[in-house]
Formats: sequence, structure tokens, C-alpha cells
Amino acid sequence: MSELYTKTLTEIAEQLQSGAVTSAEAVKNCLGRIETTEPQVKALITVLGEDALKQAEAMDADGPDASRPLWGVPIVLKDLLAAKGTKTTCASKILENFVPFYDATAVVKLKEAGAIIIGKANMDEFAMGSTTENSAFMTTRNPWDNERVPGGSSGGSGATVAAGQCFGALGTDTGGSIRTPASFCGIVGLKPTYGRISRFGLIAYGSSLDQIGPMARSVEDAARMLQVMAGYDPKDSTSVDVDVPDYLAALGRENLDGVKIGLPKEYWGEGLDEEVEVALKAAIAKAEQLGATMVPLSLSLTDYAIATYYIIAMAEASSNLSRFDGVRFGHRNKDAEELIDMYTSSRTEGFGDEVQRRIIMGTYVLSSGYYDAYYNKAAKVRRLLREDFEKAFEQCDLIAGPVLPTVAPKVEDEMTPLQMYLIDIFTVSANLAGIPGMSLPVGLGKDSGMPVGLQLMGPAFSEADMLSVAECLEKNLEPMPLAQL
Ligand code: GLN
Repeated sequence: MSELYTKTLTEIAEQLQSGAVTSAEAVKNCLGRIETTEPQVKALITVLGEDALKQAEAMDADGPDASRPLWGVPIVLKDLLAAKGTKTTCASKILENFVPFYDATAVVKLKEAGAIIIGKANMDEFAMGSTTENSAFMTTRNPWDNERVPGGSSGGSGATVAAGQCFGALGTDTGGSIRTPASFCGIVGLKPTYGRISRFGLIAYGSSLDQIGPMARSVEDAARMLQVMAGYDPKDSTSVDVDVPDYLAALGRENLDGVKIGLPKEYWGEGLDEEVEVALKAAIAKAEQLGATMVPLSLSLTDYAIATYYIIAMAEASSNLSRFDGVRFGHRNKDAEELIDMYTSSRTEGFGDEVQRRIIMGTYVLSSGYYDAYYNKAAKVRRLLREDFEKAFEQCDLIAGPVLPTVAPKVEDEMTPLQMYLIDIFTVSANLAGIPGMSLPVGLGKDSGMPVGLQLMGPAFSEADMLSVAECLEKNLEPMPLAQL
């Protein structure tokens, strides 16, 4: 019982279905683990201890339900996903006490599948950042090494899964926020195709880029979570009405015969830390041994991806965040005498530095006189980037590369905002192109001992193929242990 938390989501779901473990036992085990590890890790803004336990006991009274694939499984949500009756803060002072009266569609689907929400995870404020240091409340630590960041912006989700506090978590990815913490924390993180999972109830950052996805300890776990959440939702006009394949049925391939993996020269060159490169090349060699063919190719617009991404993301953020005005949601300065003062002071007090910086830059690139030079230009480059990927996928099935140039940096290394933007170089393109991308843990850096993630990207709606290749590779590599805490 005390070691339950070391199981994967797939294993615990099976034990719950067979009755070998009760849902209350699973929840208690996670809560116990939260109690012992949380003082170091600080992954969670809210822990739903009593509620979760009550719900588990009620479910146990009725017994397992084979039609609910996540029956009794404790799950954590990134704190920008609306969960009915539960504080949903976006790690921002402006939403410190916001309690939504509805569930996000992805959360509804998890609950319908029987999952029990046991906590809300820390993150960079409004998902803006790559390390979770931009949270208004606390800095989450990497469970592998407390001196290091967990990655971001879904850093709480990454850390809670790696620390064994839950069996899976939801993150969101606008420019890498699922893949980055997955890579730094040694877990699997999948950003699905734009439109694959409904964004209804996800508090928006960059609406044309945001996507919800699973973070878990194995590829199969991620596939199970995706299966439950994928699909069209009339409440999100950008969710796409295409069939949801059977992701689990796609798993179990014996080898990688016939799989063509593209290696963009821009991803494997300069700037990549040596220990990251060594770990990734070993994984590529393994894929080759398993029968995959490597196809050298070029994504020639990679150099423009960061500039394009940050213009578009900030423009959309400045518009999305205008709703937090002190009137309808969240924090309000009650001393302000005039309406304009009230708006200004509420927003000045409520938003952190990074969020304010982005609102200012976003407003600037959208303002008349600069719109054509920045926003419009970025929108055009985005189209070209997408075409670059389409051409690449004429030559290969999947693209492989690093998730990040380095392993998790130390908290004390304090990056400047620009340095922070630049480490997203390999992740933002998938969001700009709307295609799926994932991070698969492939080993530990030989100098730091920290996890390294391999990024796979595929054409739109190729999640089934991507997961099947990742799972084949996963079972042929050294298993990634849980972080030792
Ligand atoms: N680091 C990127 C940013 O700050 C990505 C964040 C995300 O994916 N939410 O915009």
C-alpha cells in the first residue's frame, strides 16, 4: 500500500478495476505522498484532500465500473483549468480567489471517465514562462534536484507527476509548456494537435496556440488520458470534428520497421548542450536499431520561430487578458475613486511583471502603425513555417529533436526575460504550425544526472502513430525511474 504511488496510471487503473486497490486507498496514498514531498517540491496551489476522499469513498461504495477507464484514479489539474467550486487562480493575484461555477470540458470528460481531482498545480502566471518562477505564489522545485526548476509553464503538473503525488496531470502548451516540464522532470508530456481537445474552460493565454494535454509517467498513461479527453466539443468552435482513433490499440508495436524519422539540421546543431546531445543521440541510435530510417532534412525557418511566436502570443495575450479589469473577475482596488483609476490600479496590483510586460508588448504590436510591421508580418511567417513542416512531412513520418537545449537550470541561475524566451526555440514551432509534439524521457545527462527528453513532432492528428513509436522506443530504453525524494 505505501508504495502505490510508484505505479503508473495504467497499472493503478487496472488494480482499481479488479478491486485489488480501492479508490480511497489510492487517494490516501497520494495525499500521504503530497504531505511528505510537498514541503520540498511545492507543486500544488490547492490540495483537495477531504473532497477527493469523500468522492472516492462514495465511488468505492458502488464498486468499480468497467465502462469508466479512469475509475478512481487521482489526477491533478494545472490551475488554469476551470474546475467547478474549486479555486482556479492561474497562479495570479488577480484571480487569487476566483471560483468557477463550471468545469472545463477536458475536466468533465476526466470526471466522466471516473478520475478523481486531488489538486490544482502551480504554474507560471497565466502560463507565461518556461520555469514556473513566474507564479505569484511560490516557485516549484524539480523533484530530481530541489535546486533546479521543474520547467514551465506547467511546472507544477510536471513536478507532481514526477514526485509520485498523483498518477497523471493535465498541462497546457502554448509554446512548449507541457513538453518543457515533461523533459526537465523525466516524464511523458503530449501536446496534441490544435483542436484535438476542447479548450472550453481553459483560461486563455494565446487562443490560436493553446492546447491541453496529458502529463504522465508512461506513454501508455498519456494515451489513456488523451483517449478520454480528445474529441469535438460544440462549446469550443476551434475544436475539430474528426474521428478519435483508438490510441491504445495503436500501441504495442514490436519494432520501428518502415518508420521514417526526420532530423532537422537546425535542431541538432549549435547551442545544444553536450550531455543533452549525447543522451538524445543514444535514443536515435536505438530507434535506428529498432528499424527506423533517419532522414536528414531542414526546417529552414527555425531561426524566425521565436520572434514569430512571441509576437503572436503576446498580441493574443494582451487581448485575452483585457477581461481581467477588476469589475467582473478577481482582484479589485477598492480605494480607487475613478473608474479608470480602478482599472489601472487593480491590474497593476493584480498582474506580475512578466504578465504586464507581455500585455504592453502585445498591445504595441497590435497598435495602428505597428500592426503591419509586427503582427501581420508574424502571421505571414507563421504560414510559411507551417508550410515548412508540411514539406518536411512529405519526406518523413515524424520529426525528432531536442525539447530544450539544456537540462533543467538552477533556480539561482536567474535568466533574463530574453534568455527565458530563447530556450523555447525547439518547442514553439509545433504550436505555430498546430501540429502535435511530445517529450519522451530518454535518459539522464551524464554530468548533471538530470532527465533529458526527446521531442517527437508529427503531422496534424498523427497522435496515434507518434504514441506508438514513442512506446516502442520507451520499452527498449532503460526505464526512467521516479525522482528520488
Ligand atoms: N515559454 C513560452 C511562453 O512563455 C510557452 C508557455 C506556454 O506554453 N504556455 O510563452
